[in-house]
Order: sequence, then structure tokens, then C-alpha cells
Amino acid sequence: MVEETRMSIPADVPELITHYIGGQHVPSLGGQTFGALEPATNAEYTRVAAGQAADVDRAVAAASDAFRDSGWADMRNRARAQVLNRIADGIEARGEQIARWECFDTGLPISQVEQQAKRAAENYRFFADLIVVQTEEAYRVADVQINYVVRKPKGVAGLITPWNTPFMLESWKLAPALASGCTVVLKPAEWSPLSVSVLPEIFAEAGVPAGVFNIVHGIGEQAGDALVRHPDVPVISFTGETTTGQIIMRNAADGLKGLSMELGGKSPNIIFGDADLDAALDSAIFGVFSLNGERCTAGSRVLVHREIYDEFVTRLGERAARFRVGPPGEAATELGCLIHPEHFDKVLGHVEKAKAEGARLVTGGKRPEHLPEGNFLEPTVFADVRPEHALFREEVFGPVVAVTPFEDEDEAVRLANDTKYGLAAYVWTNDLKRGMRVANRVESGMLWLNSHNIRDLRTPFGGVKASGVGHEGGTRSIDFYTDQRIVHAWIADGGLPRFGGVQ
Ligand code: NAD
Repeated sequence: MVEETRMSIPADVPELITHYIGGQHVPSLGGQTFGALEPATNAEYTRVAAGQAADVDRAVAAASDAFRDSGWADMRNRARAQVLNRIADGIEARGEQIARWECFDTGLPISQVEQQAKRAAENYRFFADLIVVQTEEAYRVADVQINYVVRKPKGVAGLITPWNTPFMLESWKLAPALASGCTVVLKPAEWSPLSVSVLPEIFAEAGVPAGVFNIVHGIGEQAGDALVRHPDVPVISFTGETTTGQIIMRNAADGLKGLSMELGGKSPNIIFGDADLDAALDSAIFGVFSLNGERCTAGSRVLVHREIYDEFVTRLGERAARFRVGPPGEAATELGCLIHPEHFDKVLGHVEKAKAEGARLVTGGKRPEHLPEGNFLEPTVFADVRPEHALFREEVFGPVVAVTPFEDEDEAVRLANDTKYGLAAYVWTNDLKRGMRVANRVESGMLWLNSHNIRDLRTPFGGVKASGVGHEGGTRSIDFYTDQRIVHAWIADGGLPRFGGVQ
């Protein structure tokens, strides 16, 4: 039976998604727009203002004025924290709308985006708590000197975000930037412009002064690029592809900008023969098929101990084949549709290349028959993937997993590290000593041992190698958005050399 994939366009979707600058909803100065697509049908559902350099100038000017004049930067931490908590309240109150819009706009299953809205609210609460207990260091040198740190927000922060779980990832940058006292210009991803549209009202109700929070929509190479190059934006926090990160770093060099780069991944999930195999199987499946496989920390290379390899591949294939692929808005759907036809073609290109290179297709690899339109793909498992295959090396960012056998611990580590990326890793073994040995040897910014993606917000987040530069998460995010100035106070008499003082 062919399923009807079109969700009706939510009645509350704006006819034009505008920028939000200085507390006003405004179109582009030159009137430029682009179309937003519903990924379940690829039909255009609304137009979006396409920001140009002039729009970015206007937003940065509003943010600069607000940084200087609105009182936000100088507000006491407790007062700013109260505003952040009210933002979290507003998000929770609109949780249903945010999830519905995000599901419609991105193709992520509704059951999974509901969690993302909750997580976003939690990010605001977390950074509210963090700044209230924030301390500034002081260093006393005997009775002669006191050195103390003064934290100052850096100014206008440029925030550039991707389309996978957009609302949550925007909160990940907005919450610490605002908590720190910065004002911001956010450039959301062009493929997922909708859910951020709830924020202006929530922020205004929460008491964020006009100009503190600004949105400029648009194409990366236009609006994003103008933000990166803007002389009055001292810091850029970027999440997206590694190649885009490289371009941004080059373009930010002239302005000597502070950069935080959260980039791509090709994370290994290493499963030893002595592991709890039911849990490891759940992890392998969740790791690459949740959020449509469009997740930066996806465990997209499953490395399996030879002694359990055949059985594990069979079980993984069976579970993947039973997945409920369907319209993203249906409660039972486990895998929705990929964000955009261009991305769909790219993912299919990876599938075709893997076949051509000789990897063994266990299941999937094609559009489900009951979903003839939209960007739907069956969960896809390739086994016997070798390190020289593109599928082992390149980020797919879709529901496609590469499974590779290993003989022993050394080979597992060698295979895990045989990639330019280093974002996340997962290790499954009941031998704790081995697990911790492997954890120390795998080159990744984050590693989960016998668990999956559960993250304490206080911990560092970020990648090594081509997966990122700098770490966010907890106090590290506050460090990024603030300057730590040092005052050296001399409290004793004397202590200075007296050049030229000899009579
Ligand atoms: P992308 O790099 O194509 O785009 C990300 C953002 O950058 C978008 O807003 C885009 O408009 C903007 N952009 C593009 N070109 C630009 C330019 N020249 N100057 C300034 N801005 C520009 O990434 P994407 O396809 O939206 O997202 C998927 C990627 O993000 C994957 O590689 C994924 O691994 C990565 N990601 C990483 C993390 C992490 O925390 N490490 C989290 C989520 C996603």
C-alpha cells in the first residue's frame, strides 16, 4: 500500500519567514527570498528571507547597539539567569508546536524531535544555573600582590548552525552566549528555517531586550559568509561540515576571530565478543538510525570482533529490515525522511559507491516501496567494509552503516583511528580494563563505554582531528564567549626596580 506522506502544512506556519533584527520582524532589504521544502514531498511550503551582506550589517549594528546600551552585558548574573529560565519556560510551553514544526520542516520522526525541544529548554536552564555559581579566580602572592580575573562578554557573537536537530543545536550556542552577556546574530541553516521562528516571541516575553537576539536567515555563502567576515563580530561559533569549517577559518583569519568549530564525524562503535550483545546491538542501531542517521556523533562504522561477527551482522540486518520507515509526523515512525533532495541524492551516491567498491549490502539501500515520493530511504547495512572503501572514510550523514570485522584489540584501535575524523567513539566490552585501555587509545573527543550518547551537560563536547577545533560544553562554553582579563594589584610598598635612580 502506498502511504500518504504529505503532512498538511501547519496552519500556523508564516507565509514569509523573516529576519528578526533589533526586535522587529523584517524582510531582506533587497527583498530576496528562497523557498523552504517539506522533505516528505519536496513541495515548497513557504518563502524565507534570504539575507545579504546589508542585512547582516543591519543585524550586527543592532546587536552592537544592544551590547553597548541595553544593559544586557552588565546585568547581574542572577538577573540574566532568571531571563534564561523564563526562556526555558516559554520553550516548554510551546513544546508541541516546536516539535510539530521541526518534524514537518526536517523530516525527523515526531517521537524523536519531542526530545530535542525538551533538551533545548534544559540547555537554557543549565547555563542559567552555571552563571549563578560562576566564580572568578584570584591568586594571592604572599602579602604583596593580588591577581584577580575579571570576566567580560566578548561582544557580538556570530552563531552559525546546521539543519540536523536545528532547534536543539541553536540552543546549544544561544544559551551560553546569552548567559555570558554577549549579544548575538544567529544564522540558521537554510534547509531548516522554521522552528527558530518561535524564538523571537519567547525571548521578548522572557524579557530579552530588543537587539540582544537577532536572526538573519539565508544561504551560507551569502548571509553566513557576511557574518564570518564582519569586523564587529569578534567570535564565531560554527557547527557544520568539516569543509565548511575550513572555509570559515580561512575567511575569519583577517579579523583574527575567536572560533569554535564543531565539525563532522565518522565515529566507530567497537564491539568486543564479551560484550552484552543485546545492548551493543541496540547501541549500533540507535547510533546510526536514530534522527534519520543525520547526527554528528553517529556510530556509522561498527567494528565487530571476528568471533561474533557473522551473528552480529545477521542480527543487525534483521533489526534494520524491521524498521518502521514512514511519514515523520506519525507516532510509530522510527525513521522519517532525509532533509532535502540534494542530501538524499548524496546519501544514495554513497550507497551506490559502496556497492561498486565491493562492500556487501546486507539490507536496505533503496527507497521503501510504500513511500514513492519524498526523501525516504530504508535503513541500510553494509558488511565487510574495508578501510580503503569510501564508506569507511566519508561521512554519509544518513541511515547507512558500515560494518567491519577485527581480530584483536590492537586491530580494533587501528581501525577506529584510521580516519581523519575524531568526534565520538563507543566501546562495548564487559572487560573494564580492556574498555578503559581502548578508551585511552582511540582518537576521539568523546567516548562512551558501554553506553550511548547520554551526556552530562557539564562535560566537554567536541572533536579532535578534522572533527573540531575547541571544545564547548559546561564552563568551556562560557570561556569561549567571555574574555578573562587579569588585574595584577600590588598591595605592598616598593617592589619596583629603580632604573636611573642612582645619584
Ligand atoms: P554545512 O556546513 O553545510 O552548513 C552549516 C551552516 O553553515 C549552515 O547554516 C550554512 O548555511 C552555513 N554555511 C555554509 N557555507 C558557509 C560559508 N561559506 N560561510 C559561513 N557559513 C556557511 O553543514 P550541514 O550540512 O548544515 O550540517 C551537517 C554537518 O554538520 C555534518 O558534517 C555534521 O557532522 C556536522 N555537525 C557537527 C556537529 C558537532 O557538534 N560536531 C553537530 C551537528 C552537525
